[in-house]
Amino acid sequence: MSALLEVENLCIRYPSMGRVRAALTGAEREFDAVAGVSFTLDKGQTLGLVGESGSGKSTVARTLIGLKRAHSGTIRFDGQDITQAGAREYARLRREMAIMWQDPTGSLSPRLTVGSLVTEPLRIHGKGGDMRAEATRLLEMVGLPAHFASRFPHQLSGGQARRVGVARALALDPRLIIADEPTAGLDMSVQAEVLNLLAEMQARLGIAILVITHNLNVVRHITDRMAIMYLGRFVEQGPTDRIWSAPCHPYTEALLSANPEPDPDAARARITLEGEMPSPRSRPAGCEFHGRCPRAREICASEAPDVSRQTPDHAYTCHFPVCTDASGG
Ligand code: SF4
Repeated sequence: MSALLEVENLCIRYPSMGRVRAALTGAEREFDAVAGVSFTLDKGQTLGLVGESGSGKSTVARTLIGLKRAHSGTIRFDGQDITQAGAREYARLRREMAIMWQDPTGSLSPRLTVGSLVTEPLRIHGKGGDMRAEATRLLEMVGLPAHFASRFPHQLSGGQARRVGVARALALDPRLIIADEPTAGLDMSVQAEVLNLLAEMQARLGIAILVITHNLNVVRHITDRMAIMYLGRFVEQGPTDRIWSAPCHPYTEALLSANPEPDPDAARARITLEGEMPSPRSRPAGCEFHGRCPRAREICASEAPDVSRQTPDHAYTCHFPVCTDASGG
């Protein structure tokens, strides 16, 4: 399988203060919200970016679709370097990369009908044809009857609004969908419906999906690979099944232990992390997780761990990993 999206050593910076204040205080004007993130997403695969709020995962998504500039690093889409792509190039790329926003009702114009909403990307990109027939086709693809085309967003349930979001994302026949918290605010049964729909679309159309979420059940349900973010860095990434059964990083282990497990025999002992995630404006020395890590030892406060590999495609950064055959202690 070949890589559709390749991200290498991506750094994304945000301003921390104004120019004048920075000049007066001598402090750094910007901080790294995302620091050295690398991953690949193959055609037809699903990757989950997982992390708490403030971990940098949505910043990665915004940068991939050109709403934020990378400070350094490289983004390649289908072999083409798009890191510094301009507005015209992104207009073309948006046909190939679609985004499903977190709050579908809020991101759907309340004055447009569902039919106009799902066909809007076609009109924006100058596609002609019978828009009514297109609306019917797109709605049927996501399991909504054609008569929904005349409804307005406020007349939709949360699950129906998500389906409309998926239909809009599919309108231009993209090769990549970025799904930002695709199940946020939905109850469990509707979450499953939306995830099944995404999985079905992927299997049917061979689309690659990048899922941005803090919900581990979403990741388990539909991703082939997962990457766990903490303070703008990946602390672990690899095949979802493998990380689920044998996490290496203590942060991953703690996240998994807090996830409700339907099978009581598979439930893990809950690991409670102390404190809050620090600010990326003032990163701790050494391993940036050391202040909250139950396995931290002296070296963790001064030396940042290198990337280690449990298997060729399962990487983590930790001096004392949880995965027993690599722990050395
Ligand atoms: Fe914990 Fe040390 Fe590993 Fe960091 S390097 S995650 S502090 S054990």
